[in-house]
Amino acid sequence: MRETWVRSRPLIRSNLRQNPEPIKPMDITSKQHIALISVHGDPAVEIGKEEAGGQNVYVRQVGEALANQGWHVDMFTRCSSAEQPKIVEHSPRCRTIRLTAGPEEFVPRDEIFGYANTFVEELVKFQQQSGIKYSLVHTNYWISAWVGMELKKRQAVKQVHTYHSLGAVKYKSVTTIPMIATTRLNFEKAVLETAERIVATSPQETEHMRSLVSTKGNIDIIPCGTDIHRFGALSKEAARAALGIDSDAKMVFYVGRFDERKGIETLVRAVGQSKLRGHEKIKLVIGGGSRPGQSDGIERERIEKIVAELGMSDFTIFPGRIGDDILPAYYTAADVCVVPSHYEPFGLVAIEAMACGTPVVASDVGGLQFTVVPEQTGLLAPAKDEVAFATAIDRILSNPEWRNQLGQGARKRVEEKFSWDGVAHQLSELYTKLLEKPAKALEQVSA
Ligand code: UDP
Repeated sequence: MRETWVRSRPLIRSNLRQNPEPIKPMDITSKQHIALISVHGDPAVEIGKEEAGGQNVYVRQVGEALANQGWHVDMFTRCSSAEQPKIVEHSPRCRTIRLTAGPEEFVPRDEIFGYANTFVEELVKFQQQSGIKYSLVHTNYWISAWVGMELKKRQAVKQVHTYHSLGAVKYKSVTTIPMIATTRLNFEKAVLETAERIVATSPQETEHMRSLVSTKGNIDIIPCGTDIHRFGALSKEAARAALGIDSDAKMVFYVGRFDERKGIETLVRAVGQSKLRGHEKIKLVIGGGSRPGQSDGIERERIEKIVAELGMSDFTIFPGRIGDDILPAYYTAADVCVVPSHYEPFGLVAIEAMACGTPVVASDVGGLQFTVVPEQTGLLAPAKDEVAFATAIDRILSNPEWRNQLGQGARKRVEEKFSWDGVAHQLSELYTKLLEKPAKALEQVSA
């Protein structure tokens, strides 16, 4: 493999705010080589575009945090552009390795499985050439689950798996079921029953696995996390000044991929019928990247049309992809962050907003039922119910004092439950426990 090395920009961290003690690195010398596998979610790309979302963030953050705790972490993904460097070094013990499997261009995730076999071959080849033996693979999403299961046939390796999305749940909420559905459902069941451990990110996800996938297999709940230092360092005044938003404006914020499943239409229609509309300086900000002509570009156009039809164009802003550097300012400046997804396995946006002290109005589904505590950190509303969303948004916008209380509750909940360091610490303990047991006798990396 031709290798181009690039040292990545460090993640922005700020310690302006007093936060719980970071977890100390543990006995660094004893930690082993592990591989995080994320075939379609490249941990080294810019987040917020080209189908890049929560999974990319999760793998990158978990990888870096595990490396801080002493593990040697290689994150394997599929190379999706000939211009991309093949290896990106994030920190001394953490790097992204891009394998060539299929064309070096963007491939929609439902079509990637056709290249999974090549991905396995390339990963094995990489190990042979580098001489690295991974004692554990942590796979992400069903395509990577299959890669992990294949590796287990050839090597003595333990598998931990995180679904990020369950086909059995997703296919209930879409009108067109893709051709790949049966394959996906079969492998999602197989990995649950055979992996050394499944990591569910919320109790709700565990329930779905048990009721819709299989009663067999071992599941631990370890949530997703967020950077509690980066999110939450600014004051609301400073954030608004940075973005040029008036201090008396009522700002409603969405950020995420443009995908119908994200329910942006529900948010737009809810704000369209808000009681505060016309009385207050309302501002609706809908952030997220899109490519004209691609699925996200088409969804953005559809949303812009609804905004125009409802006469909301003068107070609605589409800032496009919001980069790492400015995202905390958007969350902090907002009076409320809305996550109107039809289904959400976890929903990083909710905890990022909460970390910034901003209450969240979210759909009463999936992981959002775990992260958002109604009346304490925000409010939940039935998915697709624009009237319920309008009522919830109005309740928060019309009572600034209560809004601030919810915001404080939100920050506290994230500090207690959802810091990346805490999440990585739990994963590290799980890996250590699993590695204490010998892997089933299998030969070394196959020739
Ligand atoms: N994101 C971002 N900039 C954008 C849009 C999204 O940084 O313009 C990030 C967002 O902050 C979050 C992730 O993308 O970390 C989306 O994750 P989430 O779990 O909410 O949704 P998913 O994309 O996995 O469905």
